[in-house]
Amino acid sequence: MQLQRCGLAMALAGWVLAAGGTMAEPVDLKIDPQIDHEIAGIQAIDNHAHPVLAPPAMATDREFDALPADSLEPQTDPSALRPDYPLLGAAWKALYGFDTPPPLDAAGLAQLNALRAKVEADKGEQFPAWVLGQAGIGTMLANRVAMGYGIAPPRFRWVPFADALLFPLDNEGLAAATPDRKTFFALEAIVRARYVKESGLTDAPATLDDYLKKVVTATLERHKAGGAVAEKFEVAYLRSFDFSDPPRAVAAKVYARWIGGGQPDAADYKLLQDFLFRYIATECGRLGLAVHLHTLGGIGSYFSVAGVNPLLLEPLFNDHRLRKTHFVLLHGGWPYVREIAALLQKPNVYADISCQDILFPPRTQAGWLREWLEFVPDKVLFGTDAYGFSEQMGWPEAAWIASHDARQALGLALTGMVADGEINRARAGEIAHLVLHDNAEALYQFK
Ligand SMILES: [Zn+2]
Repeated sequence: MQLQRCGLAMALAGWVLAAGGTMAEPVDLKIDPQIDHEIAGIQAIDNHAHPVLAPPAMATDREFDALPADSLEPQTDPSALRPDYPLLGAAWKALYGFDTPPPLDAAGLAQLNALRAKVEADKGEQFPAWVLGQAGIGTMLANRVAMGYGIAPPRFRWVPFADALLFPLDNEGLAAATPDRKTFFALEAIVRARYVKESGLTDAPATLDDYLKKVVTATLERHKAGGAVAEKFEVAYLRSFDFSDPPRAVAAKVYARWIGGGQPDAADYKLLQDFLFRYIATECGRLGLAVHLHTLGGIGSYFSVAGVNPLLLEPLFNDHRLRKTHFVLLHGGWPYVREIAALLQKPNVYADISCQDILFPPRTQAGWLREWLEFVPDKVLFGTDAYGFSEQMGWPEAAWIASHDARQALGLALTGMVADGEINRARAGEIAHLVLHDNAEALYQFK
């Protein structure tokens, strides 16, 4: 389906917020019309999102994330996640025909919710797929604990979570680090218990060998058999990326000593986690599952931005035993966007622009996107990180805003490259297809 681009090109040419909260005249973003047209016609593969089940299951669905972010202490929200973000109005209008600019008062929000409820009821099980259609997305990778009603192949492909497998011992010590981690480790315990149970066990086995075989590999194989195309790590919320490479015997000793109970020594426990991460990444390579890693300054007031410097992952990417594993750096690693570009030279490393396309306006994002595309255009993937960020921005609004901002950023980057004589328009069209569709299709072997 061709996007309703004529109207959108006008509506999304750029918003300026005038005094009083109304929209001023659009600003011309100067995207080459031929490139703009090409981009508008592409049904994208969304590399990363958190769609919620179709109504009525959506009301109680909590499996859209292993670590839902709505239970954290307040942070300073970026502009795009505030209730007065101008593009919310464009998304509400496109999705639900609701024509009131943000911010909404209680009555406005009630009106919007009534319109949402009507569309949801009309579409029923097809509601999630309908959202994809509105956002120009053909296939969405659903990063969820489990798939479910209305979230199913072929429009949705599964990406489950692997973090719980990294932390099999008593996590009280790790949970004490910050209030956020206290919440997160409690949630991970639920996922880990689920994985143990689904593996046919009641408790974690007594030895590392058995844990690897009967829980870790069993879980990854079960995910693969259930249609998973990748495993997602939110480990950035739980610890830093500095994974060392301890021998298996060392990890086995730590596991055996504390699996029965007691608080593990922090340094020893880290060695076990480090070993487990490499083991899981190796198994993912064997099973043809990509490894997705959250790389971006994260949500929550205690997130360690220093701990997610993607250069900390370089030893993994350079480990010859892991060359069969495809690593995808989600959210493009902002603020480390240049480090990400350099890492894309590794044959098994990719990056997506999910979430960046919500948080940053197109021209800002086009800056580093252009640099990536000039460097290695075949390693950059489109994504949205469509997530229920707030009452104003549910996952449908987030998908819509990300898709349209990403297309504009891509249009600006490619227009600049053509204008400077780096590529011609035909190549610009090819790169647009690579980013929005073909790179993901090749990586996940969807054809
Ligand atoms: Zn996400």
